[in-house]
Amino acid sequence: MKGRTRSKFWRVKCACGNEQNIFAAASTAVNCLVCSAPLTTARGGTAVLAEKATLVKTLE
Ligand SMILES: [Zn+2]
Repeated sequence: MKGRTRSKFWRVKCACGNEQNIFAAASTAVNCLVCSAPLTTARGGTAVLAEKATLVKTLE
């Protein structure tokens, strides 16, 4: 299996200060658990970081 993504999970920080782990290959959009802002959108089976979200680090 050739993976395009190097990391399986991202630790993402929302504009509201909440941090949460997101599955990098999520096929659905992920929203912040605190303020419901979109953290990622799904594009072709890969999560794409949303405007308000900041990538803190990638997790193996
Ligand atoms: Zn938030």
